[in-house]
Amino acid sequence: MTSSYSTDIVIFGGGIAGLWMLNCLRNQGYQAILLETDKLGSGQTLASQGIIHGGLKYALNGALGGAANIISDMPARWRSCLAGEAEIDLRECRVLSERYYMWSSSGFRSKLKTFLGSKSLSGRVTAVEKHDYPDFFKAATVEGILYKLPDFVVDTNSLLNLLVEKQRDWIFQISPGSYRFKRDESRLVKAISFNDKDKQFTLEAQKFIFSAGKGNQQLIDDANLAEPKSQLRPLNMVYLKGRDLPPVFVHCIGDSFSLTPKLTITSHSDARGEMVWYLGGEIAESGVGKDSKTQIYSARKLLTTLFPWINFEKTEFHCFAIDRAEANVNNNYRPEDAYFIEESNVLVAWPTKLTLTPNLADNITKHLISSGVVPSGTSREQGLIGVFEAAEIATSRWD
Ligand SMILES: Cc1cc2nc3c(=O)[nH]c(=O)nc-3n(C[C@H](O)[C@H](O)[C@H](O)COP(=O)(O)OP(=O)(O)OC[C@H]3O[C@@H](n4cnc5c(N)ncnc54)[C@H](O)[C@@H]3O)c2cc1C
Repeated sequence: MTSSYSTDIVIFGGGIAGLWMLNCLRNQGYQAILLETDKLGSGQTLASQGIIHGGLKYALNGALGGAANIISDMPARWRSCLAGEAEIDLRECRVLSERYYMWSSSGFRSKLKTFLGSKSLSGRVTAVEKHDYPDFFKAATVEGILYKLPDFVVDTNSLLNLLVEKQRDWIFQISPGSYRFKRDESRLVKAISFNDKDKQFTLEAQKFIFSAGKGNQQLIDDANLAEPKSQLRPLNMVYLKGRDLPPVFVHCIGDSFSLTPKLTITSHSDARGEMVWYLGGEIAESGVGKDSKTQIYSARKLLTTLFPWINFEKTEFHCFAIDRAEANVNNNYRPEDAYFIEESNVLVAWPTKLTLTPNLADNITKHLISSGVVPSGTSREQGLIGVFEAAEIATSRWD
């Protein structure tokens, strides 16, 4: 006889979106479990730079409308979690930098863009006086303007470990393709049947959430959903390691009117304590399709031009390809805010940015409540602990 289990909510995908949802839902009394096919965080989450954005990009565009207002609230929202005063207690999460800067090297157009950014953010972006420059910019040998943003940077490794630790018992490993979605007579997905190695069983739930990043497309196909559409944005990310690198957290704004910062740097440390600079922004987008040697050459050249006072000779450079996975709305547009859509009892979700994850969780929770999904208190999920194995946590690329 096939065993059967049940829970209120089944979440697929153990990146920031799935783990945040799991924590929120369980804190609200729902019985919820999370299923992961690979290692937790192995998608975009650990590859993220961990910047909690306050909406600078929208401001540069001159539009501080609905979506931009949501993102501009996010730093405060995260800070209340980090202070242990909101829905998830993140007091033990490491913050890599309390500040994030924007550096405009020179040139009229880049200065203008910087100015527009600060004006439309009405005081939230402040010019830094030279005597208050952080050490890295005090040593600058080129003229530039430095702004302080409301953004800050979290250590995604510590964030991930904390969210997993809080719900360890309810996070499980599954094999790709070991599940089949079962629909009831009204064509709603109401259960999943598993056939994994020597185990066969059925798992029923009130709702299913797909928050598997790039993996959402396969799940959409597996569940035969018609509506949700996804898109991928490839990036070629560079990181460099060097004992003597100073920590730096900065967007370098370019001289063109492109809204993407030329370079976005965050600083991390690897497992041996060595300094890692992680490079995003335009360099990662324009590097798509370049081989490692060419991409690393471009990164070295850009860094040497922007920061001529730093010696990169003894620095080890690496790069890797990764896709950003987002919803595809209105024919290839990507949403500016967190996005989910429900079809046949399945919610398919993308946070769009790590920063927007709390907003995604709020919207999904409101939706569940308005759809009459309440904690059942009667689920048979306890038995699942012996059925699935625990999912492991991934490590950062530089480890
Ligand atoms: C290089 C880079 C830098 C970024 N920097 C920032 C930043 O600084 N700030 C910011 O706000 N945002 C940033 N982002 C965006 C942010 O990282 C993502 O929006 C966010 O991590 C997405 O989280 P997720 O949980 O939806 O997906 P992911 O982190 O991709 O997690 C999806 C998980 O689902 C699993 N999975 C896949 N298929 C299945 C399946 N069938 N069943 C079960 N599990 C499955 C995967 O193994 C993975 O663990 C960055 C993204 C990238 C790529």
